[in-house]
Order: sequence, then C-alpha cells, then structure tokens
Amino acid sequence: MEQNHGLLIVLSGPSGAGKGTLCQELLRQMPQVKYSVSATTRQPRPGEVDGLHYFFRSREEFQAMIEQDQLLEWAEFCGNFYGTPKFAVEQAIHAGNDVILEIEIQGALQVKKRFSQGVFIFVVPPSMDELAQRIHKRGTESEEIIQKRLKTAARELEYVSEYDYVVINDEIPIAVDKLKSILVAEKCRVKRKPYVFQGV
Ligand code: 5GP
Repeated sequence: MEQNHGLLIVLSGPSGAGKGTLCQELLRQMPQVKYSVSATTRQPRPGEVDGLHYFFRSREEFQAMIEQDQLLEWAEFCGNFYGTPKFAVEQAIHAGNDVILEIEIQGALQVKKRFSQGVFIFVVPPSMDELAQRIHKRGTESEEIIQKRLKTAARELEYVSEYDYVVINDEIPIAVDKLKSILVAEKCRVKRKPYVFQGV
C-alpha cells in the first residue's frame, strides 16, 4: 500500500461557525498541514492580504481560471465566486503534505466526487443565535450581507450528512483537539489508499 500521499481535508460550515479560527489554530499546531489559498472575486476585508488569505481576482480573471481548468472546484457564494486552484493542492498532496481546504458546501461536494478519499469535516456553531452574534461581532459585513449569510447558514446545515465528521465549535481548544484527533485517526486507516486525481 502506498503511504506517501498526504490527506486532503475539506472543512466546511456556515459563515461565522469559526472555521477560519479553527483552521489557523490547527495549522499552528500541525505545521505539516498546508492551507490551500483560494481565489475569490470578493473584495478584501481590512487586513486581508492577496496571496495569503485569498487570491483576489476580478470576475474576468476568475472566469479565465475556470476556462483554463485551473480550479479543482468553484462555486458562487452570496454573490461572489470562490475556487480552489488545482496546482498547489496536487503538488502538496503528491509531496506527502496534508492539505486543508476551507470551502463552502457546493465546492466540497465537487471535491467529494473527485477525491473519494478526502476527509470531509463540517464545523457547526453551538446554535443559530450564537452564529448570528458571532457574525455581528466580526463587524466586517453590512446588515444586508449578514442576513444573507444567516439564511445561507440555515440551508447549509442541512448538508451535514454529506460529511464524514461534524465538530461543534463551542470552545476553540476543544474543537481544535477534535480536528487533530480526526486527522490522526484518518492517518491510521488500514484502507487509506493513494489519491487518484481524475483528469490529471
Ligand atoms: P468568506 O467570504 O467569509 O471569506 O467566505 C465565504 C465562504 O466561501 C466560506 O464558507 C468559505 O469557506 C467559502 N470559500 C472560501 N474559499 C472557497 C473556495 O475556494 N471554494 C469554495 N467553494 N468555497 C470557498
């Protein structure tokens, strides 16, 4: 059995569930895990850096990436496009690194079709009230966008059954420990076989 391919980890969950925070903490504690930087047509938030948080692209540039088959998956979310550049993910996995994709559900379902051996984790907030509070507290979106994101979140929760694991993000250190345990357990799976990229 070939063991030298890394894990492809997909982390989804409603906006405000705390995926970003969990992801950062996981990367800090497990430096062998690489973060897949997505492309997006969304405007940068204060403090967001091109190439680090996202590749900020125009709609035309994003369209060109789709046409040139540069994206592993892509989706429209609340009026903007988001997608995972294929090249970096493939390179990291083949080099034996684990890669984490922090992406929404439509994209995660596309990845699931291509990588049946991926590890699909859904992060949920302790409650919808808590979710609303967190998004308001973040203070980075207008009320209109917040309402849109909350509606989307309610719909997204219905997809939890498509995932392998669910982690309730009540307390960050506990949720991070759960994520780490999932990765450790996944690496011990007897049946873990090399990833097969379709069309690559
Ligand atoms: P935000 O605008 O809050 O950074 O992200 C909005 C949503 O898009 C989040 O659920 C985030 O996980 C998701 N997202 C970020 N990058 C990607 C991507 O490359 N592909 C897909 N499908 N979703 C993404």
